[in-house]
Amino acid sequence: MRSSLDEAIDAETEGALRVLERLIAAPSLVGEEQAALEVFEEEARSTGLTVRRLPFPAGSPAHPCAGVAPDLDPSAMPRFQVLVSTPGDGPLHLLLNGHMDIVPADAPELWTSPPFSPERRDGWLYGRGAADMKSGFAVGLLALRALRRTAPDLFARQRLGFLAVVEEECTGNGTLQSLLQDGITAPEVVVLESTDLGLLTGGIGVLWAEVTVVAQSGHAHTSEGKANAAQMGLRLVSALHHWAAGIAAAHPEPDLPGLAQPYALNLGRIRSGDWTSSSPATAVLDLRVGFPRAWTPDEAEARLRAAVTQAAAEEPGFAAAPRVRLTGLRARGYRLNDRAVLLRDLAAAHCEAHGTVPDRFLLGTTTDARLYLDAGIPAVCFGPRGRNLHGIDEAVEIASIPAAARTLARFLLRRFGEDPV
Ligand SMILES: [Zn+2]
Repeated sequence: MRSSLDEAIDAETEGALRVLERLIAAPSLVGEEQAALEVFEEEARSTGLTVRRLPFPAGSPAHPCAGVAPDLDPSAMPRFQVLVSTPGDGPLHLLLNGHMDIVPADAPELWTSPPFSPERRDGWLYGRGAADMKSGFAVGLLALRALRRTAPDLFARQRLGFLAVVEEECTGNGTLQSLLQDGITAPEVVVLESTDLGLLTGGIGVLWAEVTVVAQSGHAHTSEGKANAAQMGLRLVSALHHWAAGIAAAHPEPDLPGLAQPYALNLGRIRSGDWTSSSPATAVLDLRVGFPRAWTPDEAEARLRAAVTQAAAEEPGFAAAPRVRLTGLRARGYRLNDRAVLLRDLAAAHCEAHGTVPDRFLLGTTTDARLYLDAGIPAVCFGPRGRNLHGIDEAVEIASIPAAARTLARFLLRRFGEDPV
């Protein structure tokens, strides 16, 4: 039987989809998140929430898992993050978290519709950030708008926060600064990433590194039989894939059964050469390195450096030892305790809304949930159904947005409908 809450969600769904479309149409690449955050502020105000801007400083916070801050134009607009909350003072009793930053839309000409012009087709809403994770903001606001209709006094005694951060995709420093600098904490956190309506409870460690390879350069006619920097770089990457396979063999991730390589090594970008008839002197490789939960980022870095040194020693042709520089994520692997009350109650809310128990799973990725767990705060990811995250034709299944909101709203009713414990 459908409840008045479900009817309120139905009534507010079109408005929530428009929020998502507005967010997608405000491209929020790293350093350019502010326009999308302003949309969130506006929509939160119209939901009756209080808006607070949190200045986001340049540089990396002092923390063992802080990421290496990206090189951004120092003259650019000052950056900020946004905390919205139910009215009142005092500590937050629950925090929703979402990241407003997106990854670039590689090869926009290959998209069926332009990445920053949201389009609804065949039950899916397309656009960069549709799934990762602007739809999370639509889910959160949809649940709150429906609760405002059906339980207007719900947040009178306890406070709910909804935090929009930056730099989740490249450093995690947004959520980290909200904890360290702004003291935004709560007893529990739900990160509204797309999880296919399941409970994502953990992930692996991730390190970003730039490796610079130098090899002999010269005129094309002298190049036959010699490996140039671009070719040496690719050989180095293939040696590192063997190294990563060794890690997977030595440290299988028990919670990712059946996955041959939980710690994927990804060559995300390569820059080399400047002329068709010249052999490139350098190649700069941007690598994402996955690593086991038992390692710290420092340990992963030390092992990567050793692997690069060893691979270069075994391969003739390098003009100098490849240089390794960290460029972003230094994320430790994480996992929420299976017995967490947060998991139990979210699962119960989902069951009540949909009649099914949500899947619990880990992924070979990282999320900002790790930073809360690191601070002793239970955190889980829950959200709609996405596809082609970080890829061409990224999309979110439209029906999964109200579906996720039905679960979240019931969970909030459970948390806020009773006396504080
Ligand atoms: Zn994400």
